Amino acid sequence: MKPIDRFFSQSAKEMKPYSPIEPPDQIARRLNLPEEQIIKLDANENPFGTAPEVLQALKNGRYYHIYPDPAQVHLREVIAQYADCSPDMVVAGTGADELIDIACRLLLESGEKVVSFAPTFSYYGHVVALNRGQLVSYTREDDFSISLEKAKAIDLTDVKLVILCSPNNPSGNLLEEPVLDYFLSQDVVVMVDEAYYEFSQVSYLDKVKANSNLLVLRTFSKCFGLAGLRVGYGIMSEELAKGFMRIKPPFSVNVAAEVALETCLNNLTHYQEQVAELTRIRDWAIAELSRFKQLQVTPSRSNFILCRVLDAAAADIHEKLQSKGVLVRYFDTDLLQNYIRVSIGTQPQMEIFLEQLRLLIR
Ligand SMILES: *Cc1c(COP(=O)(O)O)cnc(C)c1O
Repeated sequence: MKPIDRFFSQSAKEMKPYSPIEPPDQIARRLNLPEEQIIKLDANENPFGTAPEVLQALKNGRYYHIYPDPAQVHLREVIAQYADCSPDMVVAGTGADELIDIACRLLLESGEKVVSFAPTFSYYGHVVALNRGQLVSYTREDDFSISLEKAKAIDLTDVKLVILCSPNNPSGNLLEEPVLDYFLSQDVVVMVDEAYYEFSQVSYLDKVKANSNLLVLRTFSKCFGLAGLRVGYGIMSEELAKGFMRIKPPFSVNVAAEVALETCLNNLTHYQEQVAELTRIRDWAIAELSRFKQLQVTPSRSNFILCRVLDAAAADIHEKLQSKGVLVRYFDTDLLQNYIRVSIGTQPQMEIFLEQLRLLIR
């Protein structure tokens, strides 16, 4: 029989699978550890879990047998109130991930270019390729900043979209305002991914009103702890939002996610307290990690810390921590040689992580 992938599109055939994260219950089974012993610090999720108010609201939901509203009328109002903008400027999706995909589908003709600055969130490249675009990736400076001078030297012919991430994942630094202003002044759409806005408290949302080419992305996956329910949103000019609404799948955001996010937004103090606690733990963990001679720690405005490992293999540290139930991300790419990234967990989780790390490096 002929292989079935002869029917696959060229872009699908050429695509590398998106680096999968193994679910904690499967890791526990594979390592023969009790599931409660797994400390998940590899995907920047909320370590406190789903809030009791959210669980209660989900239990009380009465409309799970009815399709969600394709126009997202209520959903857009609720998010607009939080983001302090007009509902016409909001589009929700199944995670910020879906909105990145919709942006590419809306904007890109085959072969058109998308600019981004690496190292950054690797999903951008995946989605651009799947939409038959071409990702042109420029290298960040040693401190992971973007040089304005180098940005200005980029040839933007055939570039439709520029993707900027603030704070950047995996480095944790904020986007420089002059770099954003430069790209906004050019004939391109600029997407600013603010998935970690609640941790940095720095946003470029106020520029949307004056710039119809700006698209700001946010998510309920990180600070609000709804990663498993899949909901994120974009804030953009009304004209751009109309384009998104025209092509988005009609029922992508599910009714349970809507119930959950509305409850989150009605309990903002709860999350503000968690952010304060996680920020305190982050700064303490940065100080603790900085005491390791074998680590080079990157400052962070987010809920994760990127460290370069010296005189030891990051892959090995990753694996040995995993065998103790402590999950972190590690990178060994051209631009991130021998790095680990640890998400901020609860104080006891971080203490276990540091204790295990001390057994491996000094
Ligand atoms: C986690 C993350 C996302 C994805 O968010 P979802 O809403 O869960 O799809 C987007 N961008 C960055 C930079 C992220 O780290």
